[in-house]
This record gives sequence, C-alpha cells and structure tokens, in this order.
Amino acid sequence: MTHQELREKYLSFFEAKGHKRIPSAPLIPENDATVLFTTAGMHPLVPFLLGEKHPAGDKLTSCQKCVRTGDIEEVGDDMHLTFFEMLGNWGLGSYWKKEAIEWSWEFLTDKKWLGLDKNKLAVSVFAPTFAEGEVGVPTPAGVGTGHDFNIPFDEESYNLWKSLGVSEKRIVKLPKANNWWGPAGQTGPCGPDTEIFYWTGEGDASKEFDANDVRWVEIWNDVFMQYNKTAQATYEPLEQKNVDTGMGLERTLAVLNNKQNVYETELFEPIIEEIKKLSGKLQNNQDSFEQLYSPGTTVIKNIENLKEKAERIMSVRIIADHIKTAIFMLAEKLEPSNVGRGYVLRRLIRRAVRYGKLLEIKESFTHKIVNTVLDIYKDIYPELKENKDFIEEQLIREEEKFEKTLEKGLEKFKDTVLRREIKGDKIGKAWDQGILYGKDSFILYQSYGFPREMIKELCEENGVKFDEDGFNEEMKKHQELSRTASAGMFKGGMADNSEMVVKYHTTTHLLHAALRKVLGQEVEQKGSNLNAERLRFDFSYGQKMTPEQIKQVEDIINEKIQEKLDVKIEEMSLEEAKKSGAIGLFAEKYGDKVKVYSIGDFSKEICGGPHVENIGILGHFKIIKEEAVSAGVRRIKAILE
Ligand code: ATP
Ligand code: MG
Repeated sequence: MTHQELREKYLSFFEAKGHKRIPSAPLIPENDATVLFTTAGMHPLVPFLLGEKHPAGDKLTSCQKCVRTGDIEEVGDDMHLTFFEMLGNWGLGSYWKKEAIEWSWEFLTDKKWLGLDKNKLAVSVFAPTFAEGEVGVPTPAGVGTGHDFNIPFDEESYNLWKSLGVSEKRIVKLPKANNWWGPAGQTGPCGPDTEIFYWTGEGDASKEFDANDVRWVEIWNDVFMQYNKTAQATYEPLEQKNVDTGMGLERTLAVLNNKQNVYETELFEPIIEEIKKLSGKLQNNQDSFEQLYSPGTTVIKNIENLKEKAERIMSVRIIADHIKTAIFMLAEKLEPSNVGRGYVLRRLIRRAVRYGKLLEIKESFTHKIVNTVLDIYKDIYPELKENKDFIEEQLIREEEKFEKTLEKGLEKFKDTVLRREIKGDKIGKAWDQGILYGKDSFILYQSYGFPREMIKELCEENGVKFDEDGFNEEMKKHQELSRTASAGMFKGGMADNSEMVVKYHTTTHLLHAALRKVLGQEVEQKGSNLNAERLRFDFSYGQKMTPEQIKQVEDIINEKIQEKLDVKIEEMSLEEAKKSGAIGLFAEKYGDKVKVYSIGDFSKEICGGPHVENIGILGHFKIIKEEAVSAGVRRIKAILE
C-alpha cells in the first residue's frame, strides 16, 4: 500500500461514517504560545474539544503534520520520528466508545480497508494503579481503588474489545502512566484511552501482549475525554464527551508493507539512498546494510565490526529524520535562530550535519536532499514546492554558519590544552595526566556543537583520555534539568524550550548584578518571569532608566558573556550565604541549606537553579523594553540573540 492510498483510505473510511475531512493545520501553531509545534491531530482542535462549535460539524477527520522534538532521543529506533503524520477522527459530543472502538477495528481488519491480521493485534485499556510505584504493571480487572485519583477501570472499552472477538490475553489493563490522556495544562478535559498495537516480530505472537517488548508497536490511540480536572484536582464528568484518536501514518505504512521499521517505507527509503550515496563510508559498503539490525533484539548478523556498523545505521536514520523535519519547518518560513522555534530548527540541521561528518560526508549536503523529500510529498503538501528556493538557501546558509562554529570549537579545544599546559593550574594537572574531564568535554558538546564521537576522536588524535563517564554524567544532569523545566507542558518541543528558559534564568542573575552596578544597591529583585522567548525582570528603582544606563547594563553583561565565566554552585547554610555576600530575595522560602550560584566574582545569588554551566553559550544580550510597573518598581524585558 502506498502512503497516498493509506491517507485516502483513512479519510474516506471516516467520511463514510459521517465525518467531515479537514485539512492539516500548520506545524507552527497559530495563536498558541503554549507549545512550539503541533504535536498531535487534536492540537489545532483544542477549542472545539472544549465546547466551541466547529464550522465543519461534530464529526471530523484529518491527516495532521506533527513534530515531537521530545522524541529526539528515540529517533533512530524503529518507530520514533521527530516529524510524522497523524491520521485522526474526532467525535465532538457526537459519538462515544462503542462507535470509536468498532470503527477502529473495522478499519484495521476489514479486507475492504487495511485487512491487517487479527492475530497480530493487541489492545490496552485503562485500569487504575492499586499500589504506589506499580506504574506499567497490568492490574487485574476492577481491583483498583484509584490510588492516585478516583477513576474506575474502563470496563466499557474492555467489554467492547471482547465483543469484537479480541481474546482476553490480548486486552491488557494498564494504569494512568500508560493509558490516560491529559489534561494539556493543569486543568481541563482528560480521560482514559485505549491503544492498539501490532506485532512486528516473527510469527503471530502466540505470547501475550508485553508493553516492554518493542516488537509490539503502538499504531493507534483512541482517547476518551470524559472528565474535567478542576483546580482542586478533582475529576468531574464532562458535559460534552469527546472522542480523539490518532494513528501514526509512518508506523501503519510500515506494518502494512511488512517493513520492520519506518525507514524502510517509501516515506524514507529514497532519502536513505540519497544519504548513502553522499557518504564516503557507505558508498562502497552497501552490502548487508539493511540486515545488520533485527528489531527488538539488537542482534546484528555476520559483521565483524558490529558497533561501528550499527552506529552508521543510526547516523543515516537520524540524518534522514532531521533533514525531513527541518524541510517541513522551513516550508512554513521558519528560520534557524537562537531562540524558541528557530533554535529547534537550528539544532535539527546541525545535528544532521554532525552525523553527516561521522559518515564522512565531506561537503555541504543537507540541501542536496531537498528534491528527494519534495518528490515524496509534492502532491500532499504544496507548501514544500512553493518554498523550495527558500528551503535550499536556508540549509546552505545554516551549514556554513555551523562550519564556522565548529572551527571555533576546535580553537577552544586547542586553547584549553595550551593554556592549561602553560598555567599548570589545577585542571592543568588533570590535563598533564592526559584526561579530558566531563565538564570540559560537555562544553565542547553543548556550546560548540561537537558530537560525542568527534570529541573522542579529537582526544585520540591528541593522546588524551576521554572521560566518558564524566561526560555521561554531565549529559544526565542536563537532561534532568530539561525534564524538570518542562513539566506540565504538552510533550514535544519542550526539551529545547526549557534549555532556553535555563539560559534566561542565568541571564537574569547577570542582569540583577549589572543593574546593581549601574543603578546602585537600592536595586532589588521584585519579580521574574521566564519563557523560551525572553526574560522579564521587575526591580525596585525610583526613576526611568536613561538610554545610557540601559546601554551600560547591556555592555557589562555582554562583556561578561565574552569572558565565558563558569557558573559555580555551592551549598551552605543561609547564615553563611548571607555572610559571603550572596543576595537572595526569597530567603524565607529556603530550608537549612541553601544553594549559592556564583558567576565569576560578578554575581552571587541564593537560588534553586537550574543554570547553564558556562555563560559563554548565552549569546548576545539585549534589553527590548524598560517600563514602570508600579510606584518605585521598574520592569525590563530582554532577549538573547
Ligand atoms: P509511543 O509510546 O510509541 O511513543 P505515544 O504514546 O507517544 O507513542 P500518541 O501520543 O498516542 O503516541 O500518538 C498517537 C500515534 O501517533 C501513536 O499511536 C503512533 O502511531 C504515532 N506516533 C506517536 N509518536 C510518534 C513518533 N515519534 N514517530 C512516529 N509516530 C508516532
Ligand atoms: Mg511517545
């Protein structure tokens, strides 16, 4: 089955069931600052799920372009992409579980439609957790007491699947962590879901469904929005009950055509071929490329240098995924930059280029893949062709810029080595011992965009030991920060988003210190608000700042950034912190021990973090607004460029 056929079948099936076909919304959401990119078909429909009338009616179906940068670490496995298409159908108060489940089953298994083998399908339904920590463990029917929240087992869905002939060992009950959707924010519509899985392994999976076996691939999710979560964290039945479903086009196309991963489908195959042609390493090495990896097992066959070959496959897949995603973003006129959405785009392109280097792709190459991607999608997404020139120009320009950054990174590496050898300082000793510690290698990774493998190579070339554990530790710390900062948001986009927020957080400390330098010690923080696009800082001060003062503050901060100062964390008692001169404005909120963050000897604040490790990565600081909030309190809005 072709991708065009699959899209058309889905949409016409639901049209036949009384749905209206609606077009894909843009990847860049209109009038929505809560997410960076559209992450699901339901996303553009949120107002209608909340009760607003949709002009096309109360039964809708679409094929929606989606981006989930939150899945970036999973890209390269068999089934996760950053860009994918989601087929969906919605009942806005118009139908419920019976119709949704029966239609899903009919579409998947009826010979007239997809005709998938019933013996290879399994489903999961919601059942509450009955003990703390038993996340992901199937719970017996009805046993739950609703430990974390008082919602009963979704018996209705369970019985519907049974009535369709799905055997009981293929209807698994999973708790909130697996089978619950929403709300998107703190409050709002939410409810249980039922997910449909397909067995991609050998045979027809006589075993039971196992949520941890990656050969069981989730292809479709039917969400039943039947509760409203209130500000008091209670769950009330919703007046308008909605059905919200999402089926992954790439995954479904893969299983329909007996492909073990999405990269072997026609939505990727030509792109992969193109990348292999460009790669010096792979050109003469096409033998058994595809059979290296068998899904779910990581068993790699008949190859001497297993690890290296597996890495190559990953690299090719990552390049294919990232460039396609970048092309779709560029087709909506997004440009690479250092903030928000543009920053995500920049990271995707640069990550692809980095992996290109591992494959020994010598020259600028990302723009050479544009035609191949356009060919695949030209009839479906006309915006690609309409913006072809723009897409190619931007890719070429971004690769050039990245080359320059990499050169600078190389200088930084050499510089660190030389400086330390001369100074013989503390870290210099470590250097003499021939170790590149995690903290240093992580700066190369994060601020200069060096991939791990390139850092390793650099070390080898220079006879230095690469402290891999230290590097991994820094990575883990960083990922934890991303996760904390993103809690409560939609999945997707947030990892990158939170990285910017962390940068703005550190910049706020710089601003605070600079203001005290320029305006005097009467300046005290009165409030602060951060998002991925800007910082906002309120402080006590009696008058409007003059343009000279604003410029002075900007210059001081930019100078400090140029000095690439490290951010240091210490733990001490509040008493000690105050004595050491740390400023801390909400002292009553802190416990016995406090964390003190210092930036060189320029800034010292009591703060919970998180912060960047070295301010060199902040970019260029600029104040965009200075205004009064109330008598004696001023507000600054500022950005990093
Ligand atoms: P998974 O657990 O496999 O990551 P999910 O629970 O995140 O999936 P949903 O949010 O329910 O997935 O999205 C609905 C459907 O969209 C999934 O059933 C799947 O077919 C598809 N899908 C989700 N994430 C991706 C992705 N990163 N790449 C490709 N398809 C995806
Ligand atoms: Mg997911």
